[in-house]
Amino acid sequence: MGIITTKNLNLYYGDKQAINNVTMEIEKNEITALIGPSGCGKSTFLRVLNRMNDIIPNCKTTGEVIFDDINIYNSKIDPMLIRKKIGMVFQKPNLFPFSIYDNIAYAPKYHGKKRGEIDEIVESSLRAAALWEEVKDRLKKSALSLSGGQQQRLCIARTIALNPEVILLDEATSALDPISTYNIEDLLGRLKKTYTVVIVTHNMQQASRIADKTAFFLLGDLIEYDSTEKIFTNPRDKKTLDYVSGHFG
Ligand code: ADP
Repeated sequence: MGIITTKNLNLYYGDKQAINNVTMEIEKNEITALIGPSGCGKSTFLRVLNRMNDIIPNCKTTGEVIFDDINIYNSKIDPMLIRKKIGMVFQKPNLFPFSIYDNIAYAPKYHGKKRGEIDEIVESSLRAAALWEEVKDRLKKSALSLSGGQQQRLCIARTIALNPEVILLDEATSALDPISTYNIEDLLGRLKKTYTVVIVTHNMQQASRIADKTAFFLLGDLIEYDSTEKIFTNPRDKKTLDYVSGHFG
């Protein structure tokens, strides 16, 4: 069984169904890419995986999302705990207007870590996010003084600081230049040894470069889910073939 498994998952925004009966297993220590044309439900599906959809008004789910043998939609579970274990990085870096150090230290402090421990967490998270060498002499400077690519790596470091098992990234490189994008792709390739990574991307080259598995969504349906190689070279479904060969989307 995968690290996260969805079973007959449906999601509704009011009366409108955005995810239709999706059953899917996400494998541990792999990169899984969610692809499909705009509006097909990729971001919605990603948000379901750590209950980020809870904060959207009129949003309802049915079905199950199993993580560590439990349904994360079980009402007794604290969603904050889920989001610690399954971290999320967004399209636009959502840093606090604090220093680089404090952006990472904020959550560990909240969770009761002591000063010395926090220094260690800040350094090890920045190292893991391949940012330490660039920022070690300016930890007290504002996080907002960093470049877009560095800010996204800081968002990844902030997620890592909570010792997650899974990192979700929603179009996290779509606003970045090719070199910053390469740096993040390279980083994700290293992070999957320790974490499980799920990305939403509208960039098919990105999916084919870095993902082990790829899921193709269309109008809320999971059309096909397989090894990335199979999806891009020999898909089962004609709709997948049409999409990956650029006939629509
Ligand atoms: P994608 O990430 O593939 O572009 P989304 O998951 O953002 O697609 O959207 C899937 C569908 O759900 C779209 O029809 C979109 O308009 C709708 N949708 C997304 N977010 C909301 C929301 N907060 N409220 C209502 N409808 C939404």
